[in-house]
This record gives sequence, structure tokens and C-alpha cells, in this order.
Amino acid sequence: MFLTVNLQQDKSKLSNYLSNTLLDKIDETLNKWEKVLLYLNKRGSYSSLICEDCQHLFECPNCDTSLSVHSNPEHLRCHICNNAYNIPKACSKCHKTNLKAIWIGTQQIESILKTHYTDSTIYRFDSDAMKNISSKREALWELDKADIIIGTKMITTGFDFENIGLIWILLVEWELSYPSYDAEEKAYCNLRQLIGRGNRKSQETQILLQTFIPKNPLLQRLTNSNFKDFFSETLVERKDFLYPPYREMVTLEYRHKDSKKTLSFTEKLEEKLKSFDNKNSYQILRGWSTFKKNNSHHATLIVKWNDVRVLLKNIENIILRESGLSVIFH
Ligand SMILES: [Zn+2]
Ligand SMILES: [Zn+2]
Repeated sequence: MFLTVNLQQDKSKLSNYLSNTLLDKIDETLNKWEKVLLYLNKRGSYSSLICEDCQHLFECPNCDTSLSVHSNPEHLRCHICNNAYNIPKACSKCHKTNLKAIWIGTQQIESILKTHYTDSTIYRFDSDAMKNISSKREALWELDKADIIIGTKMITTGFDFENIGLIWILLVEWELSYPSYDAEEKAYCNLRQLIGRGNRKSQETQILLQTFIPKNPLLQRLTNSNFKDFFSETLVERKDFLYPPYREMVTLEYRHKDSKKTLSFTEKLEEKLKSFDNKNSYQILRGWSTFKKNNSHHATLIVKWNDVRVLLKNIENIILRESGLSVIFH
């Protein structure tokens, strides 16, 4: 179904993120007067950390989701539980030291391609580009004219394309960077939806996936599995980490301008929650540092419980009393 290209072995002179295979395929597609759709699942300016030896993708030990590299100071952060980790010197799995942070943006890709494909019309379709376009109709007109379209998540829904000969997914590992327990499921659906963009008009569209970690088991499952296998394997992990549908899940977020108050309130709330259950059938995760946002300190408790509604009923008076406490359902 897909052609997977290993970026560790196949990188062009233009960029480490553009393989020679890809450039050949783009030429081939443009020569047939067909369009190329380049897709990048970009999450802000964060990058992912990988091990180039064993292809491990660094994940939060609490949450089983991919960690992002942040700067100033440089650290790894989980976007679910908000825990921060030092950047490791060596891989936690194979203990080798060939670690690599991967990052590329749509604007960079656009400028690289514009220098190379000077005769082609290249259109970048992301939220930045959309700021200057007053209507969806105008965007559709631009998309229609373009030979090469560079798009983010926005491109996967609501647009019907004609004459797409090649869909290129720049970095498949970024599909897993949703800050959510169901990142893999979302990624699976997203990839299938993206492929659907090409196959609408009953023509054969080539799908090319680029990755630095083609042997990573998660990625293999994402790209090679049929839905039934994907579904059953993903459920096993959900069970291990007590995620839905095996538990209900809710995040309690507390914010206060005083960091000590934030921490002590969260600790007390955690103790209270624990006192409601003696069967150990729950799990509570608390970030060990608070983070400052909009001049107030935030702390979160991720609560996985058999029946979250009963639990919230028990702390109803606290929820009503504390204006700084929010309840976020998953
Ligand atoms: Zn490794
Ligand atoms: Zn986490």
C-alpha cells in the first residue's frame, strides 16, 4: 500500500528531510501533469527525539505518548501529564548515544522546493498561509492551480482534490505526536483519510512515507496493519496503561498565582481522591512541577477511574467552590 523510505539511508543534497526517491517520484509525477501533495503533521515548533541505532522514539513513561524537545532550557516534555525530563545522553533502550532531534517546518520545505522546482507552482496550505486568504473559495482556486501542494492537518478534511498523482508524508513519526492517549488511533485514521484524498477520483495515487525510524514497531503497526490487527494490538496497550475503554479518564487542572498554593492544593486533592477507592483499580498521575501560564501556576491530575462521574460527585463541593479548578473530560 505504501512505499516507505528510510531517511537515514536516503537523503538528497537538498535536505536531510527530502529523499532522492522522493525527488525522483516528484519529477515522475510532474512529468505526467499530475499534482503532488506533500503532507507534514506539524505540531508547533517542537521536535521529536529518536535513537538512530535502535529507532526508539522517546516516550513519557507515565503516558505512553511521544515526548517533545523544548528549548530554553533544553528538555523533554510530555504534553499530557506535563512532566519534564532531562535530555538523555544515551538511548534508554540500546544505551547507544546516536540520538537525534528531528524538526522541519512547512515554510522551510516550501523554500527548499521553490529553489529546486523553479518552473512549478508551489502552494503552501497551512494556518499561516490561510491568514491571508479571505475565503475558502480562494484557497481552492490556489490549490487548483498548484503543481505541488504542501499541507498540514487542515488538508486532510474538507477538500476534494483532482489529479493527485503522489502523496508524500514527510515524517510519519510525527503522526504519533498528538498529546493524547489515543494518538495512535488518531494517526491511523489521519493516514487513511489522507490516502482517501488521492483515491477519490478512482485513479491510482502513489503514497510515499518518509521516516527516520522505519523499523520502529509502532510505526510498522501504523502503516502495515489492517484495521482489525491495529485495533486489537492498540487495545492491549490501552489496557496496560489503564486508558479508555478500560477506565474512564478525566484531567483536573488547578491554577493559582501562588505556586506553593497550587502544589499544596493539588496534593490534598490527590489524597482525597485516593481515599474514595481501596481496590487499587484507579490511577492518578501528577506532574511533579507546576508550569506558569498567563501569570498563574498550573498543575494537573490525570485521573483514571472505573466511574469518573461517581468520583466527581464526591468532590462536587470542591469543584464548585474552587474557581481555579477545571475538569477536562477525554
Ligand atoms: Zn537506541
Ligand atoms: Zn506524561
